[in-house]
Amino acid sequence: MTFLFLGTGASTGIPMVGCHCSVCTSSDSHNKRLRPSGVVTIGDKTLLIDTSPDFRYQILHSGIDHLDGVLLTHTHFDHIAGLDELRTFYLLHRQVLPVLASLETLGSLKKRYDYLFKERSWEVSLAAQLHFQVLENKRGETHFLDIPIRYMTYEQGGMQVNGYRFGDFAYVSDIYHYPETIFEDLKGVRSLVLSALRTTPSPVHFTIEEATAFAKKVGAEKVWFTHIAHEIDHQKIQATLPDGFYLAYDGLSIEFNIS
Ligand SMILES: [Zn+2]
Ligand SMILES: [Zn+2]
Repeated sequence: MTFLFLGTGASTGIPMVGCHCSVCTSSDSHNKRLRPSGVVTIGDKTLLIDTSPDFRYQILHSGIDHLDGVLLTHTHFDHIAGLDELRTFYLLHRQVLPVLASLETLGSLKKRYDYLFKERSWEVSLAAQLHFQVLENKRGETHFLDIPIRYMTYEQGGMQVNGYRFGDFAYVSDIYHYPETIFEDLKGVRSLVLSALRTTPSPVHFTIEEATAFAKKVGAEKVWFTHIAHEIDHQKIQATLPDGFYLAYDGLSIEFNIS
């Protein structure tokens, strides 16, 4: 089982448009970050987490030519702006693509992308190309494509966000306010991907320090930070992290166990 980081940047992406800071102008490839997304490969199944604004480039660059399913965390722009691009898979394979999301996420998509859910006389609407499997509760376990997945709900700026766990691996991004039950949901996780924006406080994201404390409470052996802003220089901040803690970067692939 592997997880491939397609994008590890904050919502702006790094470099940020118009910015001339040392990270945005850095020649270090670790400081080039697309919007947050990743691919979980379990056996012969390829699952995409979120459809970022950089979806097209990310998928082309990764060499992925098919998806078995998509998991959505929430509907902020940096996580869903590439949604419409999923139709290319339908155009090629004429197969409905399963999508796992909360009821709140589905409702929000219908508002934000109303045209995608309308019947089209010239082609099958995107909504008909996707099969939404809605999470039944705030937290629990589900089977998606026969893969057991544990899910949890937390909050960012008033929006409900979902984290997903596959075996001893969990992807928890855009977390700020959370219920204490999350530590039960993440108990036993050995590999944790967690969002950490920068070193200075944010009203909607963990700092590196807050994320480190959260990950230590989870007890994960290895932790990769993602959703990283342009205030973070990869080499400089990596050198300050405790053992087992890493700044993720685009293109990084990690392994985990599902049993
Ligand atoms: Zn910058
Ligand atoms: Zn985000």
